[in-house]
Amino acid sequence: MTSFEDFAKVCNRIEGISGSLEMTSVVAEFLKLVSDEELEIAARFIMGHVFPVWSKEELGIGPGLLYSAVSKTSSLPVKQVEKFVKDTGDIGSAAEKAIATGKTHLGFFSEGELSIEDVYLRFRKIAELTGKGSQDAKIKNLQYLFGAAKPAEIVYLVRLSIEELRIGVGEGIVRDAIAEAFNVSTDLVERGYMLTNDFGLVAYTAKKEGGQGLEKLGVEINRPLKMMLAQIASGINESVKEMGTVAVEWKFDGARVQVHKEDNDVTIYSRRLEDVTSSLPDLVKSIKSHVLAKNAILDGEAVAIGRDKRPMAFQEILRRFRRKYDITATAIEIPLYLNLFDILYLNGESLIDAPLIQRRKKLEQVCDKSILAKQTITDNTETVETIYKEALAAGHEGVMLKNPESFYTPGKRGKNWLKLKPIMETLDLVVIGGDWGEGRRASLFGSYLLACREPDTDRLLSIGRVATGITDEQLEELTNLFKELVISESGTEVEFEPKIVFEVGFEEIQKSPNYDSGYALRFPRLVNVRSDKSVEDADSIERVEQLYIGQKGR
Ligand code: AMP
Repeated sequence: MTSFEDFAKVCNRIEGISGSLEMTSVVAEFLKLVSDEELEIAARFIMGHVFPVWSKEELGIGPGLLYSAVSKTSSLPVKQVEKFVKDTGDIGSAAEKAIATGKTHLGFFSEGELSIEDVYLRFRKIAELTGKGSQDAKIKNLQYLFGAAKPAEIVYLVRLSIEELRIGVGEGIVRDAIAEAFNVSTDLVERGYMLTNDFGLVAYTAKKEGGQGLEKLGVEINRPLKMMLAQIASGINESVKEMGTVAVEWKFDGARVQVHKEDNDVTIYSRRLEDVTSSLPDLVKSIKSHVLAKNAILDGEAVAIGRDKRPMAFQEILRRFRRKYDITATAIEIPLYLNLFDILYLNGESLIDAPLIQRRKKLEQVCDKSILAKQTITDNTETVETIYKEALAAGHEGVMLKNPESFYTPGKRGKNWLKLKPIMETLDLVVIGGDWGEGRRASLFGSYLLACREPDTDRLLSIGRVATGITDEQLEELTNLFKELVISESGTEVEFEPKIVFEVGFEEIQKSPNYDSGYALRFPRLVNVRSDKSVEDADSIERVEQLYIGQKGR
């Protein structure tokens, strides 16, 4: 058995490392150290996951419940715990401080006795608690854990209980660490992960059966695999020239789903591979009546169609996916329709290594046409152009151009699927605030609050935050630049003097009550720091409105 303290020490060590190679070695060492029984758990814990992402098991611990548990363990009032969170900007450190300050540290275990497995089993118990009285019971179980842990363990125990470890260990590091620890190729680890979505299983297989074992990992029903992704197409002519013949489909404005059907059981996974079945009974019904196959894994897009017959906003679809109550009423308000475009498994046979053309044939054999995305195979650029225009006119995003001969490559954003969408313009926005980063990045600004101008009043109206598109080097440069512009700070949030303009790219403008402008940007990314522009040159709310209206011919 490995003590949880050892795990906490590893996390602490990693927090002090900035280079990914060194981080990988530390994780690899740790994976080698843990026992066989604990390896699966450890490989998930190190990424901040308690269960595989796709598992139905959920801890159901939110900040409120956590604060109560910390408050009870430390006998400090919840308000005091909240204050510690505000001061430290991290729930883990706040809990450590609270429990160290409070009186009732129980110390159930003597040194080193709380093992990784103890923690996991307790978490499983917590996940099993549902219904009436479950909140109190969850708090009691957390209290037990916190009471048993040493101060240095509390930080990571608490962060793990909300599945946010924040030590900077991502998929790439765990992949490389497994390869290093068990002397197998990174490609095989990667492949195993794309197929199973569970580094626990991949690590265990690598240790026990090596590369050969990893090769045997395959597609299995009720274990979602990562979805194949698309690259941006440079244009119709270029794409058709490159692929020769293309399979053209509408790029639907909806949300990705992966459907697993086993006899009469249907499970639907979201793009993040979370089980969303219980929120989508209408889709389940549709699958049961329109999919003839006994067992199959299907891939597609769920679209919400409004009364005007046009796709509803993405947020509306998300409301459906997240819904836990009043599901039937919401299903009437936001009706969903399936557009399936792929099949990855059929009656015991994996199809991911079959060409798209063959997969499509099977898909058509086992599904009713009404739930399929229409596909046209062509080498004619005008035909593609016509389908593209039709898709936009119908309120969808554009088209997907797929290589008919290509295999299904889970989790890969390759050249075999190209997305063609209208080019979105960029916005020049004023940076009015920021957020300090977390963990290793606590001394850097991690995201920036952006605003557009209201010309008549000269007010700056917030429109979103950008954290993507910033290189590590830039992160440091920008922090130095913005440090000089800080007006006020509260917790991790900082207000800046409005001096700097960012050119920001985005996928879409959405209406949003969360920002002063009434709009938000979907997937914003920093394109350039426009040192050549002053605040007066930044874009106005009118331009934002124009772009919003111009999107997809709304
Ligand atoms: P993006 O999210 O812009 O990278 O575009 C890829 C996404 O488009 C996929 O993850 C799907 O959710 C969505 N999509 C819509 N229609 C299709 C289609 N016909 N084939 C593949 N993906 C599609």
